[in-house]
Formats: sequence, structure tokens, C-alpha cells
Amino acid sequence: MTNPSLLILPGDGIGPEVMTEVRKIIDWYGTRRDLPFDVTEDLVGGAAYDAHGTPLHDDTMAKAQAVDAVLLGAVGGPKYDTLDFSVKPERGLLRLRKEMDLFANLRPAQCFDALADFSSLKRDVVAGLDIMIVRELTSGVYFGEPRGIFEEGNERVGINTQRYTESEIDRVARSAFELAMRRNKKLCSMEKANVMESGVLWREVVDQVGKDYPEVALSHMYADAGAMQLCRWPKQFDVIVTDNLFGDLLSDAAAMLTGSLGMLPSASLGAPMENGRPKALYEPVHGSAPDIAGQGKANPIACILSFAMALRYSFDQGDEAARLEQAVEAVLAKGLRTADLLGEEGVAPVSTSEMGDAIVAALEASLQA
Ligand code: NAD
Repeated sequence: MTNPSLLILPGDGIGPEVMTEVRKIIDWYGTRRDLPFDVTEDLVGGAAYDAHGTPLHDDTMAKAQAVDAVLLGAVGGPKYDTLDFSVKPERGLLRLRKEMDLFANLRPAQCFDALADFSSLKRDVVAGLDIMIVRELTSGVYFGEPRGIFEEGNERVGINTQRYTESEIDRVARSAFELAMRRNKKLCSMEKANVMESGVLWREVVDQVGKDYPEVALSHMYADAGAMQLCRWPKQFDVIVTDNLFGDLLSDAAAMLTGSLGMLPSASLGAPMENGRPKALYEPVHGSAPDIAGQGKANPIACILSFAMALRYSFDQGDEAARLEQAVEAVLAKGLRTADLLGEEGVAPVSTSEMGDAIVAALEASLQA
């Protein structure tokens, strides 16, 4: 049997630093859990522009299409701010998402107990929180036509179009139901069916797909009410599915329930490949953090938890994903903090590599437990 394959694209800024720590963890799984990966590494974003004059070389794109999963660090930085729009680092990431047709964006909001006081909400509201937002990523108002700024009479009008086909709703709803089946069998769909026809269709199609998942308790909520409920009592939710625009807002709001940007992983999934695995790109939510790049200050946990998502959703290694998440939790419970997680005075921060090493040590300790 061949090993599962991973393409690693560290990117720019803190991307390579956090990815170095993920490589330690991938190596640990190879040697200690007999779970070796065939890892290829390549350039994306500003690093690819510097080498090839394009933020994503065609060869890299071809590799991304051929592997079982792609793991990306971050792209961008001030050095590239004045580049033409067509070659900006972010275009590399957008090309990956578009050509791999990654229509379901999974953003977990999980609050580790040790960090519950870090949230702007009260401890009892967020402690133990573990929800998943599934955002439709390739359609809706960000892509719908007509769009633009037009002359109308003696003034200008700005137009964007919310547009969803039944099949676009069906496939993302199916991803969300599948996810709910692996979790607590509870799914809440959010739209604005009270004021938007696309919301009416969204609700109808989600109900239809729900007939194939009778075990999942499906509910519907208007997205504005959903935003309120997320801040009031987020633990009422398990999986939430919503469109591109509402998902953009709701997932950012949910993310902040948990504290730091340095803690947030994500996955973007597409249609199943021939081997049954979905096309998949895993990446931390944060950017390239040029303000701290090269200083050993970056928190590698978001990228490490993105690899945990890869273990669970691409490689069917749910137990090993849980082992990695528990190792992160154990390290935080011991009081280790990178600089972004420091609240209390008198606690010295650990470096990026010290955090990575501590997580590997906690993985090792899990074998003795
Ligand atoms: P950012 O996420 O890079 O940084 C925001 C703040 O959070 C900074 O103060 C940074 O130091 C901190 N931070 C982020 N990740 C951290 C981590 N792992 N550990 C500790 N602190 C962390 O967002 P920004 O400053 O708005 O953007 C910087 C660059 O990144 C820009 O070029 C932007 O276009 C790009 N960007 C890329 C992505 C991506 O690759 N997916 C996402 C967002 C922004």
C-alpha cells in the first residue's frame, strides 16, 4: 500500500516557522505511530512570486490536484503590497481554492479549558465549547453576476448578486450532514428566508437533503438571530451550515469566542476524488503576521490543529486527530503560552519551536498513558 500524500506549502512570513513545527509532528506520526506520509514541499504566495514571478506555479497547482491533501501556512506581506492584483500572493491561495473547487469551508470554534478566561465572553459561556461552522465557499454574493458599479440616471449604483443553484446548496448541505453524522448528529442551517428568495431555496434544499439523514436533528435559524445566539449561548450549536456571506461573518464571530487567532485551524473540502477522499486544503485562519515573522514568536497551534483536521477528514484517523488535540490541550493546561496567549503578568512566553517540541513531548507521553 502506498503512503498517503501531503503537499506542504509553507508560504510567507510566519508560514514557514509554524510549518516547521507541523513537520516535527508529521515525523512523529511516521516513526511512532507507523503512519508515514509522502510529503512534498513547494512554494506559494510571495515566495513563489520571488522564485517564478507567479504566486502559484502551474507545476505546484498540478501537484495540489494529485495529492491526498494540501497543508498551507500563510501568504502575503508588505513586500508584495504594491504588486499588480493578478500576481499578489493571495491570488495563489484563491487559485488553489478555485481550481480544486473547494466548496465547503470548515471552521471549528473550540475553546480549550486552559484558555477559557482568554475569551471576551464569560468562562461558563465558552469553556468546553466545540462547534463547527460549514461555510459555502465558491458561490453566493461574492461571485454572483451581475456585479459592478454602473451609471444609472445621474448617479452610480453598486451591484452584487446573491445567487445559489440547487446543486450548490445540495453539495454543501451534504458535507454538513456528513459532518454532523461524525459528531453529535445536530445541524442548524442559517439563512434569511424571511427576506431573501435565495434563502427560501436554501431552506427547501437543506430540508430535502435532510431526508437522506434521518438521524440528524435539523433546525433552521435566521442568520441574524444566529449571530445573537452565538454570542448568547454558543454551546446550543454543534454543526452550523450557511452561505458564503453569512458564513464569512458568523465564522469570524465564532472564532473570537475562543480567544486568539493563533489557535484557529480550518479545512476547505471539495468533491470526493477517485480514492474516496475529498479534495482538501488545510490551513490556519491567521495570515503571515509580518509584525512578528522571523522572531520565533508565532503560535504554531493553529497550523498544528489544521493537520489534526487533515488526520480526521482526509486520512480517517479520528483517534490520532484526537490524540493530537489532547496533546495541545495538555501543553496549554501545563501553562505553556506563546506570546499571543499571554494575559497574566510574570509568565514568560515560550518560542514557536518550544511550543512545537512540547506538543511532540505530550504526544510521546500519550503513548505511556
Ligand atoms: P494576520 O493574521 O497575519 O495578523 C493579525 C495579528 O495577529 C498580528 O498582530 C499577528 O502578529 C497576529 N497573529 C496572527 N497569527 C499569529 C500566530 N500564529 N501567532 C501569534 N500571533 C499571530 O493578519 P494581517 O496582519 O491582517 O495580515 C498580514 C498579511 O497576511 C497580509 O499580507 C494579509 O494579506 C495576509 N493574510 C493572509 C491570509 C492567508 O494566508 N490565509 C489570511 C489573512 C491575511
